[in-house]
Amino acid sequence: MSAGEFDLIRRFFLEPSAKRAGTVLGIGDDCALLDCPPGMELAVTVDTLVSGIHFLPDVDPEKLGHKALAVNLSDLAAMGAKPAWCTLALTLPNVDEAWLSAFSRGFFSLANRFGIALVGGDTTRGPLSITLQALGLVPVGQALRRSGARPGDLIYVSGPLGSAGLGLRMRQGLTTVFDAAAIGALECPEPRVALGERLRGLASACIDISDGLAADLGHLLSASQVGSTLNFDHIPLISCVSHFIYDTQNTDLPLTAGDDYELCFTVPMDRQARVDSLLQQLRLPGQCVGVIETTPGLRIQRHGQSIVLSNTGYDHFSQR
Ligand SMILES: [Mg+2]
Repeated sequence: MSAGEFDLIRRFFLEPSAKRAGTVLGIGDDCALLDCPPGMELAVTVDTLVSGIHFLPDVDPEKLGHKALAVNLSDLAAMGAKPAWCTLALTLPNVDEAWLSAFSRGFFSLANRFGIALVGGDTTRGPLSITLQALGLVPVGQALRRSGARPGDLIYVSGPLGSAGLGLRMRQGLTTVFDAAAIGALECPEPRVALGERLRGLASACIDISDGLAADLGHLLSASQVGSTLNFDHIPLISCVSHFIYDTQNTDLPLTAGDDYELCFTVPMDRQARVDSLLQQLRLPGQCVGVIETTPGLRIQRHGQSIVLSNTGYDHFSQR
């Protein structure tokens, strides 16, 4: 890219970045310098979104800017970490001022809401892709992990599932129904950051649902070396997803569709009342959807009968 193009990108991304305590040196040198406060650990995550694979090429760039950051904040939430810093690598087919302006607006509006500072970046010319790395802070030894679930623990999800999956079917023209809540879930997911932080010391294990409940709960079960039975009837659903299931008798959507970014977490049974009141305080329609068991594997019951999945999860070309 030419020097002029770099200046343009710089104007959209490097100058509006919020200041944050602990940023010794931000954008402008070879590296950023960050000060991790005593007693805290750094939680680090990175995600790449590729045009045509993770988002539709014609998606609104403002929503894409939101989503690129939201998926990373969701990973920090899953660990119980507080968002602190991020770096952004953009690969762009061309330098389109209107696109960059909208993308950066969506990005910074979410970043400022969670007090996360952009401290570095890189730009290259090529097919559109966005790589975002996020760093969060968590008190030493208190991060939530996938490996802590024990037989008898209750399994919770923080909100409705299958909404983004149905939104994607709408955007792809696979259904004639249109529903703003489903499209919103797909294009503007809300990372459950406050819940993640409040689950420290309460949840025994946690994961965010990026690839569908069956796949992501499956990761948690393997890491914890346990199994579980899910009650499909307790999974929170937005009304258009309930109607879709009723009309098609296809139960896969809330179990295997990706991109919902709700948290799935486990809690010892004696903490159920505390979790229910936390969800209420945060106004999240989360529910207990199952129980951890000793027998390995994931079993699913609906109306008292076992159901079998026709596929096990959204798989971005097996990258995850
Ligand atoms: Mg994750």
